[in-house]
Amino acid sequence: MSERSARTGYAVNPLNRVANLRDHTEDFARWQASPSAKMIVLVGENVLLKRGASGIEAYFAFSEADVFEGREEIVFLGLDGDTPVFGGAYPAGIAERLASNDHYTVSDARTLALEGLLPAETLGPLAEAKALLHWHRRHRFCAACGGETNVSSAGWKRICSACGAEHFPRTDPVVIMMAVKGERCVLGRQARFAPGMYSCLAGFVEPGETIEDAVRREIFEEAGIRTGQVRYLASQPWPFPSSLMIGALAEARDETLNVDTEELEDARWFSRDEVKSMLEGSHPDGLTAPKPFAIAHAIMRAWAIDGELP
Ligand SMILES: [Zn+2]
Repeated sequence: MSERSARTGYAVNPLNRVANLRDHTEDFARWQASPSAKMIVLVGENVLLKRGASGIEAYFAFSEADVFEGREEIVFLGLDGDTPVFGGAYPAGIAERLASNDHYTVSDARTLALEGLLPAETLGPLAEAKALLHWHRRHRFCAACGGETNVSSAGWKRICSACGAEHFPRTDPVVIMMAVKGERCVLGRQARFAPGMYSCLAGFVEPGETIEDAVRREIFEEAGIRTGQVRYLASQPWPFPSSLMIGALAEARDETLNVDTEELEDARWFSRDEVKSMLEGSHPDGLTAPKPFAIAHAIMRAWAIDGELP
């Protein structure tokens, strides 16, 4: 797939979600009973993996997952061909109990993407499971009346047992972008970043705001640069816990930065050649870009190498 979004981590998801069948309880029961059904197993916020002859695997047969106790939730992710695929949430304590067992290992979703430990087409369903199961954990009670909620629609809805309100899984939009002017662009770094790494600026889209306005506001708040034209480039599911990163370029109208040091440790202008060398890992001062699984990498590449403009 040549689509820019599809080249980011967590973006490739081959599952047919068959959303129109989620309310068919007989299908849900049949899928769960299928001998071929498979499950991504989350233990708290982490992912449980099997060690196989060909490396690590994220999918468990139901018979394999049944040995773990205390399943908190099960959700239907979709069909992989004819194979029903589920996500299961288990207590974090299982990871500690299995730590000394050579058949299993535990990792976090970020490391799995960063280190390329799973096929790209597994990271998409993994992100789907992680975001959806996190939502269930945080929505046991009704936001309208405080009553207990129950799972419905194969894991895609919760209904309040007291007032009947229906609650649906959330995705939180985040804009991530680069202000550019001629041959230069603005990148910043947070104190928690690896030393020498610079990335795109980012922030949550607020209620009542377009993507374009969010891009312009965030760049102004964090770097003090006013921007005009904004162009969408790509998006990336980001299951930490349930964001959608929306990548864009913005046309800078100012030269002088005024960096918000509460948010950023530093931000500055970079030349196109510098960004290219950061992407290639050959910057003379050792500065680096985020890894290719991150949409920030795709945005930097789109401008510096592919010649995209706002
Ligand atoms: Zn309620």
